This record gives sequence, C-alpha cells and structure tokens, in this order.
Amino acid sequence: MAVVKANAYGHGAIETSRTLIRHGVARLAVFSTEEGVALRQAGITVPIVVLGPVFQEQFGDLFVYQLTPVVSDPSVLTALGKAAASREIFHSIHLKIETGMGRLGLTQNELVTLIRSNKFPPSLRLEGLMTHLADTDGADPDATEEQIIRFNASLKVVLEGGFQVPLVHVSNSGGAVRFSSAQFTLVRPGIMLYGYHTLPGTVEAPDLRPVLSLKTCIAQLRTIQPGGTVSYNRTFTAKCPTRIAVLPIGYASGLSRQLSNRGQVLIRGQRVPIAGLVCMDMVMVDVTAIPRVAVGDEVVLIGQQENERITADDIAEWTGTISYEVLCAISPQIPRLYRSS
Ligand SMILES: *Cc1c(COP(=O)(O)O)cnc(C)c1O
Repeated sequence: MAVVKANAYGHGAIETSRTLIRHGVARLAVFSTEEGVALRQAGITVPIVVLGPVFQEQFGDLFVYQLTPVVSDPSVLTALGKAAASREIFHSIHLKIETGMGRLGLTQNELVTLIRSNKFPPSLRLEGLMTHLADTDGADPDATEEQIIRFNASLKVVLEGGFQVPLVHVSNSGGAVRFSSAQFTLVRPGIMLYGYHTLPGTVEAPDLRPVLSLKTCIAQLRTIQPGGTVSYNRTFTAKCPTRIAVLPIGYASGLSRQLSNRGQVLIRGQRVPIAGLVCMDMVMVDVTAIPRVAVGDEVVLIGQQENERITADDIAEWTGTISYEVLCAISPQIPRLYRSS
C-alpha cells in the first residue's frame, strides 16, 4: 500500500499514483478524505485507505467515493456504522491500534471492550487492522519491538473475537526494511518510494535513488559593487564586485527562508551560495565564481547537474529538518514534468 499523502510527498499525487499502479501497487493510502476524493475524480480505481481522522461530515464522501477509512475512535465507529446502516450499505474499514505513537488509535482496553461486547457495527466490515511505529529510524530498536508485541496482542484479541482480518499492516518504510517482526500482509512505504530514508548509519539501507529534481532558471543578472547589499533587510553585503543572479523561486514555492545566506544551488555544474534573504517568489545567488553564466541558465535546487548533486537531505541539513518536510513543502503550483520510464 503506497503512501501518497501530502501530494505524494510533493511529487504530485495523481501522476505518482498512476505510475505506482502501473508498476503493480495494489492499494494507496492518503491522509484525508479530500485527498482520496481527488484521486477518485482523476479516475483512480484501486482501493484507497484514508489514514487520517474522519469526521461525520465526510461519511457521505467515504461511501460515494468508496474510500476506506482508518477508524481510531469507538464513537466514530458507532457513528459510521449507523450512517452505513441508514443507507443500507456495507462499508469496509480498518481499525487502528495505539501502541506507542501517542497519536491516533484505539487503546488495547477500547479494543477489548469493542470486540468482547459485540459492539462492532454489523454494517461495517473489518477489512484491516493496523498500528503506526514511532521510531523505526531511531538508534534503539527496542521501543519498536515493544510496539510490535503490543500490536500482536491486539491482533490476537481480534482474531479470537472471530473476525477474519484480511489486511494487517504495521510498517512504514523504516519498519519494512528493518523489522522483520513488523511484516504482516501489507506494508505502507512512503519516503522510500521517493528515494529517501532517515535510517541511522548503523542500519543497512536499500539502494535508493531520489525521484524528484527541482529546477528553475536565471531570470536576471547584475553586478553589485563593494558595499552593495542584496534582498530585504540588507543581510548580504558585497565585499568585492559581485555577480548576482535572480531566480524566480522563493518560500511561497517551498524554498525555505531558512536557506537565506546558507543554502546552495547548482549552476553550470558548480555549487553557488544563496545571497541574502529568500523572498516570497525570488531568491538571489552569488555567481561571481562562474565566468560564462547567462540569463536562462538552468538552476538545480534539488537534483544532479554535471558532477554535483544537491539532495533533499542536504537542504534538510541546512534548514534543520528532514527530507520529508523539504519534499512536501514544494508547492503544488510548481509545474511537474514526468518522464516516462
Ligand atoms: C506517512 C505514513 C506512512 C509512511 O511513512 P514513511 O516513513 O514515509 O514510509 C505509513 N503509515 C502511516 C500511518 C503514515 O502516516
């Protein structure tokens, strides 16, 4: 079950989903009902699981668009069961168990009460049972193994309650490669589909290649004299005659303002530094070191150019975050070009 939430981690949910399906992915996971509806409206017909919380106002869309909600709360289960019964339909759901993430999920007690007291709504089909692991990329595997033990106890309660649960799933990307005890009938990889991981160096990661490049081009060039400054609040001052290139991308498109005077981009196969504060839709770079630079030159913000490469991990390091946030910050308004493989 491929995770395509957050616009497929910035890659574009619809095209990414189509490509994954073409390569044999049988099921998709999104965060919200709205994300699921958008995929359905694009003609995607594979089963779609909604990982995030669902609200009463969304039940209609779940039914109409055949989206499978993950239910984490007994009262939502009851309400959804009533809504399905009143429409005389039978709708599949997955139940989520809280095992240590401290986020969504039924507690073990809530699960036991639900199963042993026969409160599971007859209008719903328990298609899946799941939990989410909090620390698959942490240094210490013990907390994850404990979560898996707790999950197995929940699974036992459900099976002993007489439920057949066809889909049992626990692993995100890190869990899928690192914890054999977390393999059930499905895995839910996200970040690794896109070529990144956050596993510690002590764990052997699969050979992954980043899928996405982020590019722009030089819009204007100017030379500023010593003492001249660049961008808002004049945080960059030229010490010598400095060639500045203006790039038409800024924080509104997902280029973090934390990259101000810190990040780098690639032009003509060379790394050049960002000069001054990142603006909403523009950023300036110091291209003094590149002799034949010209307006229209390709600029790589993420990706490879000649022998140099900048990854989402590099940007994450410069901005104090993780590749996930760098990727899904890329605005949906930036045109995506897909190359067929
Ligand atoms: C986002 C998410 C995943 C995917 O996690 P990755 O670390 O990107 O592989 C899996 N399961 C749930 C419930 C998620 O929210």
